[in-house]
Amino acid sequence: MHDLTDGPARFRRDVFPAKAGLFARLATTHRPRTLFIGCSDARVIPELITQSEPGELFVIRTAGNLVPAHAAVPDGVAASIEYAVAVLGVSDIVVCGHSACGAMTTLAEDHDLSAAPVIAGWLRHADAARARAAAGPTLPGTSAVDALVRANVAAQLQNLATHPSVVHALAARKLTLRGWVFDIASGAIETVDAAMAPARPATR
Ligand code: ZN
Repeated sequence: MHDLTDGPARFRRDVFPAKAGLFARLATTHRPRTLFIGCSDARVIPELITQSEPGELFVIRTAGNLVPAHAAVPDGVAASIEYAVAVLGVSDIVVCGHSACGAMTTLAEDHDLSAAPVIAGWLRHADAARARAAAGPTLPGTSAVDALVRANVAAQLQNLATHPSVVHALAARKLTLRGWVFDIASGAIETVDAAMAPARPATR
């Protein structure tokens, strides 16, 4: 879509009629099962890569799919997590990183952020990911960016588990946390857990 005027008109005319029944139900119901936390990157579309319909995913997208750990002063990410878990009662949370992530590339290659202080400050939420990547083994055929992308998903899963609503739901066995890395070139998704166990395909 290149035209922000034409796109909505085409949606209403060509797409909406086939889903009118779905949207009629959704008009009064909001019961997503999954909280999807992904990168803001334009190439990683949660509903497309999970083949989800409207109403199925509650989505948070941040630069670098970073999830700030719970803090005394809550932010918008924390509020959205609490709403998804404690109010909507999602049963799964996915933290999804991706190949060629700009945020992870900036960190892995030590780009100069002196002219971008807000970005520099936000990316501090990946400090633990950088430490994990530096401490972990270097796998053959894996770039520094790839390694940091995986370490970052693991680190953000740990940050997620500091949020009180997540702690409560995990203790009650009502919630499963999942780490994914989406490969843009192949469309494949690999899983990563918080302990950085060896990756395995999430899709066949
Ligand atoms: Zn990214």
